[in-house]
Amino acid sequence: MRALCYHGKGDVRFENVKDPSILEADDVIIKVTACAICGSDLHLMDGMVPTMKAGDVMGHETMGVVVERGSAVTKFAIGDRIVAPFVIACGECWYCKNGLHALCDRTNPEGADLQKKQIGHVTAGLFGYSHMYGGYPGGQAELLRIPHASVGPIKVPDNVSDAQALFLSDIFPTGWMAAVNAHIHTGDTVAIWGCGPVGQFAIRSALLLGAKRVIAIDEIPERLSMAEAGGAETINFAEVDTVYAALMDMTQGRGPDACIDAVGTEAAPHGALDSVVDNIKTHTFLGTDRAHVLRDIVRCVRKGGRLSVPGVYIAVVDKFMMGAFVAKGLTMKSGQTNVQAYISPLMKLIEDGKIDPSFVVTHERPLAEGPDLYKTFRDKNDGCIKVMLRPD
Ligand code: NAD
Ligand code: ZN
Repeated sequence: MRALCYHGKGDVRFENVKDPSILEADDVIIKVTACAICGSDLHLMDGMVPTMKAGDVMGHETMGVVVERGSAVTKFAIGDRIVAPFVIACGECWYCKNGLHALCDRTNPEGADLQKKQIGHVTAGLFGYSHMYGGYPGGQAELLRIPHASVGPIKVPDNVSDAQALFLSDIFPTGWMAAVNAHIHTGDTVAIWGCGPVGQFAIRSALLLGAKRVIAIDEIPERLSMAEAGGAETINFAEVDTVYAALMDMTQGRGPDACIDAVGTEAAPHGALDSVVDNIKTHTFLGTDRAHVLRDIVRCVRKGGRLSVPGVYIAVVDKFMMGAFVAKGLTMKSGQTNVQAYISPLMKLIEDGKIDPSFVVTHERPLAEGPDLYKTFRDKNDGCIKVMLRPD
C-alpha cells in the first residue's frame, strides 16, 4: 500500500510500505476513506518528538471501511464505515475502566522502558506517534490496522459524512475535553490561546458547555475569522501590547474564569520576549519547549481560576510561574485526550445537528499530495486551517 512516511526533520514522503495484517483476534483492518494532518503531526515533522524512525507511517486521525477482522471482533462487520480514536486502549485495565483511556496500562509495551525512565509511568499507545508511544503504524495510509477494535472505534451512520465524522478521531474530542477540563460553569468567560483546529473545537465546545463569552487569541487572520464565526471574540496577539492587558481590558480587570492553552510547545517565536528566548534555547539544545502560552495563562486567568492544557509539551519547561500558580489558587488539567470516553456522545451531538465538524476543513486533497500539504499546514499558507486527505 502507499502511505505518508517520516524521513527526518521536514521530510515526509508518499511511498510504498508493507500492507498491515491481522495480528490479534480483536484487530480490524480498514480501507481508509479519509485521514487528516494534526498539529501534533507538525511536532513530529519539526523533529521535536524523539524516537521517530525513518520509514515510520504517520497519522492518527483516520476513518474507513472494515475490510478484514480478527476472530474475536463481533462489534463490526466487513463493509462497516468506522472512525477510530488516535489513542489505542485495552478497555480492561484500571485506567480504561475509569475513563482515562489515554493512560491505558497495556497498549504501549514497545515504549514502556523509555517512558518509565522519562516520565515515571507508561501511557497508552498512539497511532503513528513515535516508538515511545508504541511504534504503531499510522493512518495517513491506504490501509490501517486498528488493535482493540472492540474498544475504540465506532460505526458512522450513513447520514453523517466523512468530513463530519473524521474529527471524532481526535480534534473534536480534544477540544471538548479541553473545555471539560476547564470546568466551565454557565456564564463563564473563557480565553483560548490558539485558533488552530484544536482551538476551533475548544471554542465551540466551551459555548456548548455553557460559557457566556469565549475570547480566542491567535495572529492568523483567517483563523481569527473562523473563531469569530464560531461565536468567539478575538485578540490578535501581534497587534496588541500584551494579551494580558487586552484581556484585563475586556474583563474589567478581573481576568477570564478559565484559560485554555491550545497552542502547546510550538508557540510562535515572536510576540513576547520569553517567546524569543525560548526559540533561541530550543535551537541551541538548551531547552525542549517554547512555553510562552503556558506562562501567559497563569498570568491572565482570574484568581482561583482554572487552566486547561490540551496543547502538547515535550519535556521540561522553565520559568513557569509556580509562585503565581500558588498565590492565585489555580488548578490545571492536561493530557492526551481520552477519546474513547467522548466519541459516542459527540457523535450524538453531530447527529442532533448541534455541531457540524466539517466547518474546519479548508483543504481536501488526494493522499499523494500529503508531503506538500504538511508544509502548507505548517507554514499556514493558502489559508490552510485543516487538511483532509483521501487515498483514492
Ligand atoms: P496548529 O499548529 O494548527 O495551531 C496552533 C495555533 O496556535 C496556530 O494557529 C498558531 O498561530 C497559534 N499560536 C502560536 N503561538 C501563539 C501564541 N503565542 N498565542 C496564541 N496563539 C498562538 O495546531 P492544532 O492542530 O490546533 O493543535 C494545537 C495543539 O494541540 C498542538 O500542540 C497539538 O499537538 C495539540 N493536540 C493535543 C491533543 C491532545 O490529545 N491533548 C490532540 C490533538 C492536538
Ligand atoms: Zn491529533
